[in-house]
Amino acid sequence: MGEEKREKPRDFIRAIIDQDLKTNKYGGRVHTRFPPEPNGYLHIGHAKSICLNFGIAQEYGGLCNLRFDDTNPTKEDIEYVEAIKEDVRWLGYDWEDRLYYASDYFERLYDYAVELIKKGKAYVCDLSPEEIREYRGTLTEPGKESPYRNRSVEENLDLFKRMRAGEFPEGSRTLRAKIDMASPNLNMRDPVIYRIMHKEHHRTGNKWCIYPMYDFTHCLSDSIEGITHSLCTLEFEDHRPLYDWFLDQLEVYHPQQIEFARLNLSHTVMSKRMLARLVQEGHVTGWDDPRMPTIAGIRRRGYTPEAIRDFCDRIGVAKRDSLVDIALLEHCIREDLNKRAPRVMGVIRPLKVVIENYPEGQEEELDAINNPEDPSMGTRKIPFSRTLYIEQDDFMEDPPKKFYRLAPGREVRLRYAYFLKCVDVVKDPDTGKIVELRCTYDPATRGGNAPDGRKVKATLHWVSAPHALEVEVRLYEHLFTKPDPTDVEEGKTFRDYINPRSLQVLKPCFVEPSLARAEPGARYQFERVGYFCVDTVDSRPGAPVFNRIVPLRDTWAKIKKKVSQKK
Ligand code: ATP
Ligand code: MG
Repeated sequence: MGEEKREKPRDFIRAIIDQDLKTNKYGGRVHTRFPPEPNGYLHIGHAKSICLNFGIAQEYGGLCNLRFDDTNPTKEDIEYVEAIKEDVRWLGYDWEDRLYYASDYFERLYDYAVELIKKGKAYVCDLSPEEIREYRGTLTEPGKESPYRNRSVEENLDLFKRMRAGEFPEGSRTLRAKIDMASPNLNMRDPVIYRIMHKEHHRTGNKWCIYPMYDFTHCLSDSIEGITHSLCTLEFEDHRPLYDWFLDQLEVYHPQQIEFARLNLSHTVMSKRMLARLVQEGHVTGWDDPRMPTIAGIRRRGYTPEAIRDFCDRIGVAKRDSLVDIALLEHCIREDLNKRAPRVMGVIRPLKVVIENYPEGQEEELDAINNPEDPSMGTRKIPFSRTLYIEQDDFMEDPPKKFYRLAPGREVRLRYAYFLKCVDVVKDPDTGKIVELRCTYDPATRGGNAPDGRKVKATLHWVSAPHALEVEVRLYEHLFTKPDPTDVEEGKTFRDYINPRSLQVLKPCFVEPSLARAEPGARYQFERVGYFCVDTVDSRPGAPVFNRIVPLRDTWAKIKKKVSQKK
């Protein structure tokens, strides 16, 4: 995995599907599903699962369902349902008319539970949750059988019916599968399949006060929908025997569960629970904060669905957990936007330049190329005048050896314009801070070349001060300083590794006047500064706010070890 592959990956999951097609195991069908629990926003880890499930369906001419795994009314919400649908669509996938909810199957699941009872394979248990835990045993010790394990079928049927009717308080009884309390697999020690919860559900309202557990619900939902390959993350490997057990006992259609390693991305966290804490505690502005690894955050930051799909193809799927360097994700967006994003000039830390020999009141328009990678994107006019802004970083009064940009007495090129020479430095008398450069230009160098063939070592971006649009720019760094913030030292939590520099707001910044019409969500390359996206939340007409998606320098290209093994 982690190889820079351009064509679709061939991995162990696709190998299994190829084999199943060869043996005609599912009559030539390929049918997958993406089953999020609507208890938070989707993150880039879910994108891996979405690209895998929907991608495989596309490749094999099969189908992929979107199914909400909504069996826990206390944590789930309609807000999340809508956000998840939007995110899957934005990634470029279509579930057509196959949008399902596990809660739609509650009646059928209840019937299946009754059937298990009738087969002597499930019983109502009166142990409390704590007692169930105690009776369960450990990895080294077998569990103890519940004293209620051998209730008669009739009694179980009666009690289960009354559980449904709301006769018993929450937590007082459960329905459990009757499997094997001595099984080396803890999941097989009579797992709970129904619990009493007097809670309103966001779809079924107060119709139910018993709710099925994930393991029971998931395999049967897959079965009901005719799923062929049920792809899930590795933590469910130990649950597979249970997945198979329910389907075998009930003698229903049997999909195959296949596990793959979840995506872990460096310098961020990937669990909804942790992401929710960041939101609730105000470390970020919301689920769509551009620093968040959520699809909503990444989208607002300016990432494209193409870049994310490319990223998911490149990381591939494997059987072992690893930590993928976030630099790979950044590499993918650079590659995509390099081809597509129009170039503009924008100065994010402005330093005023006055060109002493450029006549006052004069201005002109110069031709600039919109994208050197794509000539079909054409050219535009940019205004030039006596007063400009350049980047503070592009000037040093006392430059060290390898600094080739502007310095006193030195000449550089202004992109698409003229050669410029610094003749004087103006400082604030109180602070000594440089506030302005006095320069001259060479009118013979229009377009950026000297007729006498003399060379300069640097080309700077700039904007004309009287024409420029004043904007706010937001720069981002990784949300966490530590590659794996879940690997915490004693006495700390993952929040202790939040990067205090993860957001830096710069204003005033100055950009080309054409950007007054930039649409929210539009993406640009600010020459030499990075790729930017017009913020969709805080921009106002004529006053765009720019999020930097990534700087231009590609750290991925320098990284030798692409995927470091986690732990
Ligand atoms: P989280 O731990 O972040 O809450 P989850 O697994 O509880 O995630 P679900 O809504 O249950 O979230 O997941 C929906 C699907 O996405 C599941 O099939 C799950 O295996 C998959 N998935 C979740 N996280 C990742 C990840 N980091 N990498 C790949 N797939 C993931
Ligand atoms: Mg979950």
